[in-house]
Amino acid sequence: MPTILEAKMLCKTFSTGSIQQHVLKNLNIQIKEGDFTVIMGSSGSGKSTLLYALSGMDRPTLGEIIFRDTKISQYSNDKLAVFRRSHCGFIFQQIYLNETMSILDNILVSGLLVSKDRKTITKRAKELLSDVGLDEKCYNKFPSQLSGGEAQRVAIVRALINEPEIVFADEPTGALNSENATHVLDVMTKINENGQSIVMVTHDIKTARRANRILYLKDGVILDECNLGVYKKNDPDRHANLHEFLQKMG
Ligand code: ADP
Ligand code: MG
Repeated sequence: MPTILEAKMLCKTFSTGSIQQHVLKNLNIQIKEGDFTVIMGSSGSGKSTLLYALSGMDRPTLGEIIFRDTKISQYSNDKLAVFRRSHCGFIFQQIYLNETMSILDNILVSGLLVSKDRKTITKRAKELLSDVGLDEKCYNKFPSQLSGGEAQRVAIVRALINEPEIVFADEPTGALNSENATHVLDVMTKINENGQSIVMVTHDIKTARRANRILYLKDGVILDECNLGVYKKNDPDRHANLHEFLQKMG
């Protein structure tokens, strides 16, 4: 498969007063089209920082980010924002829906940033909501009226409204109970089966099992990776391979 996103010699340094913290250190990564990549590693290892740099939400201190054949790390802020909206989707642990807007409006606002065709965007929003198991009863509800799992599924729809080629998720199941987490992961698996690439951060082994590839981050470098192949439900070998890999990583 062709490479969709690549980072070369990525460095991210945070400066607080005279103290410099080198969070990402000359890191190289390649994401292939259709990959479901999971990034694991202990708390503070730089997982979120890496995700934000890869997706253009934050800028690296040094290094290049290449989307297909374009160096997006050289883009101006405005151009980078247009790139992000048109090609990337984001899902966060904290969900971040706008509490003052209806469910449908939360999604439409993101869609209308990219296309002025309200009719098409509305149709797509309703189809995507249906795909994640939410029907018309939710359209006019407000985020506070949904369960955590429902709200996260709305956030997934919002992330998908502009048909992104790559979807980034930072601990998307971190705040959910086990049943809701499974439902959300089933949706993520379906997105990936539809051909969209996923880059997901998690520290949960059950969540990680969905990926075909796990990268383990430690002290700002990718220590090792584990290839799990295509996801199959209830696959004991898959779980054993992943368990062994994580034990090796310590
Ligand atoms: P992880 O997601 O793996 O838990 P993060 O990428 O959030 O780790 O953070 C890695 C390190 O970088 C942490 O020590 C964190 O305090 C630091 N860090 C992250 N973002 C900032 C920031 N905006 N300013 C200063 N330090 C930061
Ligand atoms: Mg994090």
